[in-house]
Amino acid sequence: MELTHIFGELNKVQREAVASEPGPLLILAGAGSGKTRVLTYRIAWLIEALSISPLSILAVTFTNKAALEMRHRIESILGFNIRGMWIGTFHSLSHRILRAHHQEANLPEAFEILDADDQYRLIRRILKELQLNEEHWQPRQIQWFINNKKEEGIRSIHLKNDNENMDHTLLRIYEHYENLCQRFGLVDFSELLLRTHELFSNNQDVLKNYRTRFSYTLVDEFQDTNKIQYQWLKIITEPRNHIFAVGDDDQSIYGWRGARIENMTNFQYDFPETQIIRLEQNYRSTGNILQAANAVIDHNKGRLGKNLWTEDGDGDPIKVYAAYNDLDEGKFVLDTIHTWIADGHRRDSIAILYRSNAQSRIFEELLFDSGTPYRVYGGLRFFERAEVKDVLAYLRLIHNRNSDPAFERIVNVPPRGIGNRTLETLRDHSRKTNHSLWNSVIDLLSIDDTPMRIRTRLQAFVDLIDSIDKQIASLELHEQTSIVIDRSRLVPHYQKIGGEKALTRIENIEELVNAAKNFNSEPDADGVINPLEDFLANAALEAGESQAEAWQDCVQLMSLHSAKGLEFKLVFLCGVEEGLFPHQRSIQESGGLEEERRLCYVGMTRAMQQLFITWAEIRYLHGRENYSKPSRFLLEIPEKLIHNIRSINMQPDARIDRSAATDAITENDEIQLGSRVVHKSFGAGTVITIEGQGASARVQVNFEDAGNKWLVLSYANLNPE
Ligand code: ATP
Ligand code: MG
Repeated sequence: MELTHIFGELNKVQREAVASEPGPLLILAGAGSGKTRVLTYRIAWLIEALSISPLSILAVTFTNKAALEMRHRIESILGFNIRGMWIGTFHSLSHRILRAHHQEANLPEAFEILDADDQYRLIRRILKELQLNEEHWQPRQIQWFINNKKEEGIRSIHLKNDNENMDHTLLRIYEHYENLCQRFGLVDFSELLLRTHELFSNNQDVLKNYRTRFSYTLVDEFQDTNKIQYQWLKIITEPRNHIFAVGDDDQSIYGWRGARIENMTNFQYDFPETQIIRLEQNYRSTGNILQAANAVIDHNKGRLGKNLWTEDGDGDPIKVYAAYNDLDEGKFVLDTIHTWIADGHRRDSIAILYRSNAQSRIFEELLFDSGTPYRVYGGLRFFERAEVKDVLAYLRLIHNRNSDPAFERIVNVPPRGIGNRTLETLRDHSRKTNHSLWNSVIDLLSIDDTPMRIRTRLQAFVDLIDSIDKQIASLELHEQTSIVIDRSRLVPHYQKIGGEKALTRIENIEELVNAAKNFNSEPDADGVINPLEDFLANAALEAGESQAEAWQDCVQLMSLHSAKGLEFKLVFLCGVEEGLFPHQRSIQESGGLEEERRLCYVGMTRAMQQLFITWAEIRYLHGRENYSKPSRFLLEIPEKLIHNIRSINMQPDARIDRSAATDAITENDEIQLGSRVVHKSFGAGTVITIEGQGASARVQVNFEDAGNKWLVLSYANLNPE
């Protein structure tokens, strides 16, 4: 077969994979070896060479953005559009299936997606209802517990039946949560997956329909599937088992969300006669970057093992910058970026990667101040911003009056005199009657002993929502959005609140009309489109990701987790310090450290040409200055691959040198930055600033318990720790 536009772009093993016989196939290969590329070409090949209809192909990717890119890529290989083809994340595909079969799945037609924020609030509300103390029953932990159970396929009823040791209160919360969601048609992210799996398991007709329709299933980033996703895949591909999965056990980084690397090893047993293909040539990174990444990941045990090489030259060494503090780190990164751009590179060839989202702030400030366009992934994204969520909540409530989260969000935004007391009464009523908050308002309005003042306000709110609903019923999505913005009076509300953010907030609200205008609604199985419903669902699903125009030419900032699958010419891995990366929490958890190391491997292998690793001796964390050591991951990179860069503005003795600091510390003039000292009242701490000399020398010490203190050295009586 000719097909040079497909095969000409692949090496021999990749070609074999693309043109393999139908049947279970697993590509197990390292970063940058072309897994995603092979998967994309495989789809093109199925359509072109085997004349498989795009409608018979199901492709699962890890983010909506990856799905969009894959679709464009396939279309450009084929030269025609594949609109009806299902490419998406487990969540978006599940959502689509549940919409089409809401009845069979026992959901109301207008069921609503509960995003993480809504879910959190609902849990708090439940705790209140059950009169449980939030200090003891932490909502975040409960949220984690519930999601985790669902992703294991476990409902409260299973826990009740199978586990006698189960904590009764926790069970009660879970049960209550499930009931409330069911009653009001609320579906959280894990529920999307679980409910779809249950739908397939319980309804043979529906299952048969999808099994017949999808003759080929392809999955990217397979190493990060969790239990319920794996079962979801299995049930839909059996008995034909035309499943094509690609993954890298070394890049499994979602264990904390229930991802199971074992799925990689189980695959070949669960799908008999699996063909396993390994790709070993890396096309992304220079030799040095690859060697360094391989050296780090080599410290993990129990790997499936692979040997990654490149034809590319060694390239530059890995550049390591030991910053004096986090600001110094930021400045160094910024300077390097400016040199890179001055050399004629695009801004979007640059990524700043970090372990914790909070680290982005300093980079953001510096980039902003220097007028360098940048974009943050994983922080507060467009659809997550408060003002955008306000407008969406109006739309949600108009679409579905029983949406309690939407109701709670806007009933008093802008303020209309419906205070907490009234809201409590409504919640009380809703609890007793099982009515939604909206219906509770209607009930209360018909009860005579509701005070007139409150009645008027509630009535005005009901009238507002009803009348907007009427007004926008037959309009286009962006007109609907625009009218909701207008009539909700959110813009004057934010104007009035003022503050530095007011303008951005208003811009964001206005931007939503653009988002609505550009939104394409896809017809469901019966060809019906419901743009508003799709738009709302999309907003909830997208909130976990970046905006559509993300690939504008700007510097990219993101957490290591969001960097999965991507590549950049210049990568900064920042804050590579013990306690931050690996994260303190993970060091204590079993398997946690290995997962962090995989995350480091993911980060390093994003780099194509240049990799910078930075760390700071002093970092401001949780409101305190902390003294740090370089991460063990940094020390795992062979010295010969590293070029150490020193900062010009860093004092030479600011380098950590614990051995020199210990003995001589009682001699005041020997105290150095970074010395560990003990004070008789404040306890142990680290010297973080030294000013002056001799008798007048002052030091600032960061004490573990007492925080930061300035001390005059000759009076302080500091001893070595
Ligand atoms: P990751 O594990 O990070 O997801 P991956 O295995 O999916 O990586 P790809 O993103 O598919 O790797 O490919 C990495 C880079 O190498 C891409 O830029 C891709 O276009 C390029 N590439 C892959 N195979 C070839 C090839 N045969 N010839 C030229 N370039 C290739
Ligand atoms: Mg990939």
